[in-house]
Amino acid sequence: MGIKDKVVVITGAGGVLCSEFARAVAQAGGKVALLNRSADKIERLATEIAKEGGIALPYPVNVLDVAGLKDVHERIQRDLGPCDILINGAGGNMDRANTTVEYFEQTEAVEGQRTFFELDEEHIDAVFKLNFTGTLLPTKEFARDMLGRSGCSILNVSSMASYHPMTKVLGYAGAKAAINNLTEWLAVHFAKEGIRVNAIAPGFFSTAQNRNLLFDKDGNHTARSHKIIAGTPMGRFGEPKELLGGVLFLIDAEVSGFVTGIVLPVDGGFLAYSGV
Ligand code: NAD
Repeated sequence: MGIKDKVVVITGAGGVLCSEFARAVAQAGGKVALLNRSADKIERLATEIAKEGGIALPYPVNVLDVAGLKDVHERIQRDLGPCDILINGAGGNMDRANTTVEYFEQTEAVEGQRTFFELDEEHIDAVFKLNFTGTLLPTKEFARDMLGRSGCSILNVSSMASYHPMTKVLGYAGAKAAINNLTEWLAVHFAKEGIRVNAIAPGFFSTAQNRNLLFDKDGNHTARSHKIIAGTPMGRFGEPKELLGGVLFLIDAEVSGFVTGIVLPVDGGFLAYSGV
């Protein structure tokens, strides 16, 4: 309802989850700016959305490149108008920022094993940069358009790893916990301006980012997948489309105009379940 004709900037729009968000926003009548590091996926997506009767334009940019963001911002203002809604979807994890074991046990060093002691801070930094700074910088750039205007909001993308850290993914869990904190901080900071800031925390969706953790080389569930499904009362992974209600609700000021500073879990009950 409140999304029609809004200019909605989505970072990471070429990804599995955010491309679904982009299609849904375009279907709701929003004018979508698709931002992604690589161009090919968003160019294809823009063409597909146009064929479905929606409005979407591709803007390749790295969310960590301040000058690039500024340049893209100016082009979006010329092409579509000022940004009403920003979805900070660019993010993800990197294998080298994970331990290969859940528990540290003082045994002989095992070839290829990465415990806490073998983690390289360079990779942890890169995960923090992508998820945290990669949310901060687009927010600095695009929130300026929202000042003094109504119906504007920001949606960050968090994770189940943000509430309680998950084994192995040290950098990712810390970075997403920082996203929850940033979401609350920004919600308070911008409250008097009427800019709402929320986040969505997807549970487990099988996508490129987590494929190596969830599936073995033959495509079978790993031991971690079995644990996740056992910890998810609904007993399955989520489908990207199951996030759309939460996304559309949180960005639409007509139905969520008094909601700010929340992190909405969409997780098949994972967060609610103690495991017993
Ligand atoms: P994805 O890898 O499919 O999409 C991420 C997109 O971001 C890619 O298109 C990539 O090109 C782009 N990107 C990466 N680095 C970038 C950069 N520096 N600048 C611009 N674009 C960049 O991932 P996804 O699974 O769709 O995840 C989207 C968001 O949801 C991420 O923040 C992720 O952490 C979060 N998330 C995913 C899951 C899941 O189960 N997949 C669960 C919880 C949270």
